[in-house]
Amino acid sequence: MSVRAFRYEGMPGRVVFGPGTLNRLPEEAGRLRLQRVLIVSTPGHKDTVERATKLLGSVAAGVFTNAAMHTPVEVTEAALVLAADREVHGVVAIGGGSSIGLSKAIAFRTDWPQIVIPTTYAGSEATPVLGETSQGVKRTQRAMQVLPESIIYDVELTLRLPVTISMASGLNAMAHAAEALYSVDSNPLTDIMAEEALSTLVEALPRIRSNAEDLEARTSALYAAWLCGCCLADVGMALHHKLCHTLGGAFGLPHAQMHAVLLPHALAYNLPYASAAQESLARVLHHQDPAAALDRLARSLQLPRSLRELGMPEEGIDLAADLAVRSSYPNPRPLERNGIRSLLARAWAGDVPSFATVE
Ligand code: NAD
Repeated sequence: MSVRAFRYEGMPGRVVFGPGTLNRLPEEAGRLRLQRVLIVSTPGHKDTVERATKLLGSVAAGVFTNAAMHTPVEVTEAALVLAADREVHGVVAIGGGSSIGLSKAIAFRTDWPQIVIPTTYAGSEATPVLGETSQGVKRTQRAMQVLPESIIYDVELTLRLPVTISMASGLNAMAHAAEALYSVDSNPLTDIMAEEALSTLVEALPRIRSNAEDLEARTSALYAAWLCGCCLADVGMALHHKLCHTLGGAFGLPHAQMHAVLLPHALAYNLPYASAAQESLARVLHHQDPAAALDRLARSLQLPRSLRELGMPEEGIDLAADLAVRSSYPNPRPLERNGIRSLLARAWAGDVPSFATVE
């Protein structure tokens, strides 16, 4: 085996993984010497927030349950007012990328330590990336103070994640690993993590689809989601993430579902220009046309297959194609407007992606 030249920068952080690990929250708070924290979440986590509050006792100085998708700045400001009132100096986030986004936005402004307890497969907990929305525009930035100090992955908390959200969130995770394979920064470690994560999700998601409370499959999926988050943290993403960012900002499409629709199409566009990623994905999906195989998997998981059904107007195809090529960024295949428009048109209509059909 020949090893290519590479650059690698590992992310510091501590992970506590397994069923029932929420109970380790006081220990994690103690390690970080936290005496007063704000617990943040989205509205749907009442029971877990109550458990966390009880576990932390007097360390739980406030609870804010209004976190929202895409981290609106006004929500962060409201949470900071409560944080100041309660004199906290740390954050505990419970939930998916929306809760964790709020925690990171608070840490960005305060540098307070964070303990995050993810309940989806989005992967934000492992990255130093913060995406925030102000006046309808989403901006993303990297800053080490937003990387959480401690992640508690309690598999039991994912058992209640609705199956439809689980499937979409799983594809969201797969997108991080798939694009890591052909990233301009890819390296031997992210290659290993990405292929392991993708294989694990390909096996686990159908099992969760048929039994949402399959603890073993849930454990595999959460482990894979962590690996996918590590890939997202370590290397730059390409066309697929750029398109999701563009469509999310322009049309407010649901984050995970949009990833699920677009990923096979983005792979169909890029893989002919990324031979190592093509080989890796062919192994993972047991097929020489991984884009088509992933689309079939998504259909079998009953995921939405078109941008149309997610609410994108047809006129948006041209706008999105323009936006996608407006600025340059590293991508295996050159950013060709016609090819990207064709990709978007197929994704909008719910057509099957394939190498041959992208002009
Ligand atoms: P989310 O956090 O909004 O969760 C989706 C829905 O699932 C919500 O209604 C939530 O209440 C519910 N839910 C979550 N966990 C549950 C559980 N265990 N049981 C029952 N219901 C549960 O969505 P998400 O897809 O996890 O995250 C999307 C957000 O994260 C977006 O804003 C995206 O930009 C951001 N994100 C950021 C990064 C990063 O590195 N900065 C990475 C990935 C995603």
